[in-house]
Amino acid sequence: MQYRDSANLDSSQVTSSSGGAGGKLAVGGVGGIIIVLLAMFLGFDPNALLGGSGAGPQQSTDTYAQCRTGADIKTNRECRFVAYTNSIQAYWGRAMSGYQPTTTHIFTGQVSTGCGTATSAVGPFYCPVDRVVYLDTGFFDQLTGQLGAEGGDAAEAYVIAHEYGHHISNLTGVLDKVQQAGNQTGPNSPQVKLELQADCYAGVWLANASKDASSPIAAVTKDDVLRAADAARAVGDDRIQEASTGRVDRESWTHGSAAQRQNWLATGFNSGDPNKCDTFAS
Ligand SMILES: [Zn+2]
Repeated sequence: MQYRDSANLDSSQVTSSSGGAGGKLAVGGVGGIIIVLLAMFLGFDPNALLGGSGAGPQQSTDTYAQCRTGADIKTNRECRFVAYTNSIQAYWGRAMSGYQPTTTHIFTGQVSTGCGTATSAVGPFYCPVDRVVYLDTGFFDQLTGQLGAEGGDAAEAYVIAHEYGHHISNLTGVLDKVQQAGNQTGPNSPQVKLELQADCYAGVWLANASKDASSPIAAVTKDDVLRAADAARAVGDDRIQEASTGRVDRESWTHGSAAQRQNWLATGFNSGDPNKCDTFAS
């Protein structure tokens, strides 16, 4: 991923906190559907996201406050998360009328959210209640380790753009409809279609990421596209199931197979058009 040194970064879109092990976990509150729906990856313990009454992230620190321009990514790699977030939201601000900007909250350990208290074990997720994208960047080590992805900046950006895809589905009302449809699983379930829509939206952003002259993303290379697609493959339900249990159980899929996820990412990228992301029509 190539960054534009002169681009301004808006660090207010990324907040952070570190929650030690001392926090008390409260059980109850959030329904299982939200938990299953929001955990991005199978294989992580859904109990890691426990109900609580948190109104949003706490304990803000200013790790990202020094990120002012694209050039800062060279000296402080953490600033790349501000660049992804800014670029994703700038795109959706242009593409979607009524887009409501939100924030990426980067945490370590555990975090109190509008959807309850979460630990890093849940993986990156979007909470539709407070509309925040939550991420422990330690997840990216899991992506390249345990999950066997190539990794790289574009793989990371894909993961974050996927979570913002859930924000888009929330704003359009699709996410709400899927939650009302209940906790079904399987390759054609509403839940999987919602996840595939987020992958498609991530692809749409990737196609448009460098198109605005003020974008901190200067260019998306062929290698970037391959890395994003590789990450989508790595987190396919079939692949994760096969690696963890040695067998594939289609009916328990919550996010879609490697092929489904790659196909929808490609549909988004090749069209660059969010209107092509109606995974529910197919
Ligand atoms: Zn998701």
